[in-house]
Amino acid sequence: SLLAVRGINHKYIVVERKTKTMELLRVENLCKNYGTGDALVKALQNVSFSLEQGEFAAVVGESGSGKSTLLNCIGGLDNPTSGKIYLDGEDLFALDEPRRTIFRRRRIGFIFQSFYLISELNVEQNLIFPLLLDHQKPDSGRVEELLELLGLKDRRNHLPSQLSGGPQQRVAIGRALITRPALILADEPTGNLDTRNTSEVITLLKE
Ligand code: ADP
Ligand code: MG
Repeated sequence: SLLAVRGINHKYIVVERKTKTMELLRVENLCKNYGTGDALVKALQNVSFSLEQGEFAAVVGESGSGKSTLLNCIGGLDNPTSGKIYLDGEDLFALDEPRRTIFRRRRIGFIFQSFYLISELNVEQNLIFPLLLDHQKPDSGRVEELLELLGLKDRRNHLPSQLSGGPQQRVAIGRALITRPALILADEPTGNLDTRNTSEVITLLKE
């Protein structure tokens, strides 16, 4: 089924629903304004929806309809103007900034269109970086399992600059998965990839 939520200028953001178990994410009357006066942009206007655990949803809408704004708010990267976001039982914006940062690091995986790998770190170091930030020791079995799944075993010592777009995005997917997050947010994750790498990335995300 399709769930439509209203973004900017009455353009609709469509959330496609797949499976169902229990509520993981609830967005209530989310509003986000940018600028003031003549420059005011109402990027999100009273967006409400919820997602269940295990659900795979696509947010669809034309450029400028507020998709990135929505994902950035859910991921705690941007502050909403008003409204509530509950993720995994936590009221995201009731947490102070340091707590929200820790919550985001542990519970949310974010995949961006432009990868944002750290250029000085190799594949394996980029993969485990969220754990290092959290002072956790990576489980070597988990690291090997992910490198295998992502087809990156023989490239673990490569720097991002030595990889093309597809493998770079696979590293970014691994980095989003390493902490076993409750929610993975991906903002146009295949926007910089060719057709073959696009279908590989989508297959990996579904797995
Ligand atoms: P999408 O990801 O669907 O293309 P965005 O969420 O990036 O849409 O943008 C929604 C609207 O908010 C657009 O009109 C955009 O110009 C505006 N916008 C996004 N970010 C900012 C910002 N930092 N400052 C001002 N306006 C912004
Ligand atoms: Mg966008």
